[in-house]
Order: sequence, then structure tokens, then C-alpha cells
Amino acid sequence: MRAVRMSAPGVLEQVEVPTPTAGPGDVLLRVSAVGACHSDLHILDAPAGMYPTPMILGHEIAGTVDTVGAGVTGWSPGDRAAVYGIIGCGRCRACLRGLENQCRVVPVGGIGLSRDGGLAEHVVVPASRLLHVGDMELEQAAPLTDAGLTPYHAVELARPNLRPGTTCVVIGIGGLGHMAVQILVATTAVRIIAVDTSVAALDLATRLGAHHVVQAGPDTVEKIRAHVGPAPDGADVVLDFVGADPTLATARQVVATGGRVMLVGLAGGTLPVRPVADEPPTLPLETSVEIPFWGTRAELQEVIALGRLGLLQADVQIFPLDRAPEAYDLLRRGEIHGRAVIVP
Ligand code: NAD
Ligand code: ZN
Ligand code: ZN
Repeated sequence: MRAVRMSAPGVLEQVEVPTPTAGPGDVLLRVSAVGACHSDLHILDAPAGMYPTPMILGHEIAGTVDTVGAGVTGWSPGDRAAVYGIIGCGRCRACLRGLENQCRVVPVGGIGLSRDGGLAEHVVVPASRLLHVGDMELEQAAPLTDAGLTPYHAVELARPNLRPGTTCVVIGIGGLGHMAVQILVATTAVRIIAVDTSVAALDLATRLGAHHVVQAGPDTVEKIRAHVGPAPDGADVVLDFVGADPTLATARQVVATGGRVMLVGLAGGTLPVRPVADEPPTLPLETSVEIPFWGTRAELQEVIALGRLGLLQADVQIFPLDRAPEAYDLLRRGEIHGRAVIVP
């Protein structure tokens, strides 16, 4: 089968590899769509040894069941499914509670993270990772599994602060951020302030229901404060889908006393935490900072429900498999709006 593989750190190439077969408990999926996540760029850029190579990338997958392995019940060839990408140990305290994204044994285990992913014509996944998607388009189902699920989980964690009438700042209106805006619109009654460097991203945010947009620059904090008020007032929740030094500096300066900063982006920035405020303040008192990771299977089912109700729809740019490297180049240059989805 054709595949796009990280052959060595930083090296993405098109290859022909043997089509895998479904072992006991597994399903061979015919991949219909796979989202290009910014995390794939972080994986490509990671030092040698952090991720296995060679490895087929792609952790945001939807497709149809091709064949089922021994012992698989409930799935038949032709069934349409989205893939929950995390594979926890299934036995630890966290996994037993359904929190596989907190697995104590396999910290970042998953399809396209620790084993071959979906940038290929076929992928083998444990049958337990599949969720039904009804008649939803599979190009739409794929982005729900990460670009949808990750912000949904972050919003779930922050929900105590997302009371009607409160304010949420969303930084980075890319693949995840443009889904976050829709999740906030569909499941909360909060005022949304979208922040991005790109005007096109901000236009998308407005179209999706953001109440205010702020173009990131030297005066980002002042522009956000014009909407949320000066410290110690501020934003009740900041969802940071970038996680670089400048965005974290913005987050800590605009979050309200008692607010929540959800650090989702993996750009490697630092957020200083000190209990006594100095000048400029590190974080207001009573603030919490959380580092959400992906989400749970139960949450993915809810995200799919939002998709099926038409309340959550990725803005997709479609690429054939042989143009996957180009899609990642565009993503790196900030030229993808919404989500790039690769259709093998
Ligand atoms: P993306 O490239 O689609 O979107 C990033 C957006 O941020 C773009 O619109 C870009 O213009 C904007 N941006 C970049 N720098 C900015 C700045 N300084 N200020 C304001 N906006 C800025 O990326 P994505 O696929 O949505 O992923 C976002 C981040 O989330 C990545 O770091 C990714 O690795 C991470 N991620 C984390 C998890 C998790 O579980 N924690 C899951 C998926 C992705
Ligand atoms: Zn991802
Ligand atoms: Zn576990």
C-alpha cells in the first residue's frame, strides 16, 4: 500500500509498504481521511529516539472497516468509523476510570505516535478504538478525533469557570482553535475573544461565532484588556492552542483572578508560576493552569454527536496522499486555514 512515513527524525517520505493484516482483536481499516495535526510537525522535529522510526504518521483518522481479526465482535466490513487514537495500558488506575489520556504506563501511546498511523491506504487499529459516525462524511469525522476532541476535553476541564456571561480567550485559531470556538458556541454561553497573528484565521473565528477578535502583536494584552477589563479582572478562561512564550505571556497577563489557563499548544514556551505577584505579575492568585492531553473515548463520542447534529464542522482543505508533504509544508508556514485533511 502507499504510505507517508517518518523514515528518520525530520524525514517525511512517500513509500510502498506491505499492507498490514488485522491480528486478534484488531481491525484493518481502509483509511478515508486523516487530519494533518501540528503535533505531526513536533513529532518530525523531535530528537532521535523520542518517537519510533520508521513510523507512518497520522493520528486523526476515519475510514471503513476492511477486515476484522479473530475475536472481534460488533464490527463488520464496510462499517464507517472514527478512530480514538490513544492506546493506554487498559489496566492502570487512570485507564480503568476511562482516562486513557492519563495512562500511568504508556504516557503518549497511540496510533501515529508510538505505532503506525493513518497516512496510508490502510491502518490496523484495535477494534476497541473505533466509534460509529453514522452517515457523517469521513473527511468531517477525521478532524473530530483530535482537532475536535482535544479542545472539547479542555473545555470540559475548564467548565466550572465557563459560566454564562463569562469570557474565554482562545489563542491560535488553527485546526484545534477553530473547533474550540464552535465547541464554546455549542456548549456554553460565554463571550469568546479569538486571538491569532493571521487575519484569515480571525475571519474564520468571526464566521464561527467569536464575539471579538484580536490580531496578535506587541499590544495583544492591551487589546484583550479592552474587552475583559484590567487586572485583577480579566478572562475567566484562556485556551492557549499555541503554547509559545509570547502566547503564555499573554495568557498570564489577561487571565482573571481565580481564572484558568489551559495550555494545549506544544510550542515549548515557559509559564512562570510564583505564589506572590510581582511586576509584571506571574499569575493572579487562585488561578489554575492545566495541561490537557487529547481526551477520553467517552468525550469523543460526545464530539461525534456534536458533529452529527451539525454543531461542529471542521473547515477542511483536502489533499490527496501524494500531496501530504506539501500539506505539512503549508501547515508549518501557517498557510492552512482550519484543518488540512489528507484523503488516501
Ligand atoms: P495549527 O498550525 O493548525 O494552528 C495554530 C494557529 O496558531 C495558527 O492559526 C497560527 O496562525 C496561530 N499562531 C501561531 N503563533 C501564534 C502567536 N504567537 N499568537 C497567536 N496565534 C498564533 O495547529 P493545531 O494543529 O491547531 O495545533 C495547535 C497546537 O496544539 C500545536 O502545538 C499542537 O502540537 C498542539 N496539540 C496539542 C494537543 C494536546 O493534546 N495537548 C493535541 C493536538 C495538538
Ligand atoms: Zn494531534
Ligand atoms: Zn493505563
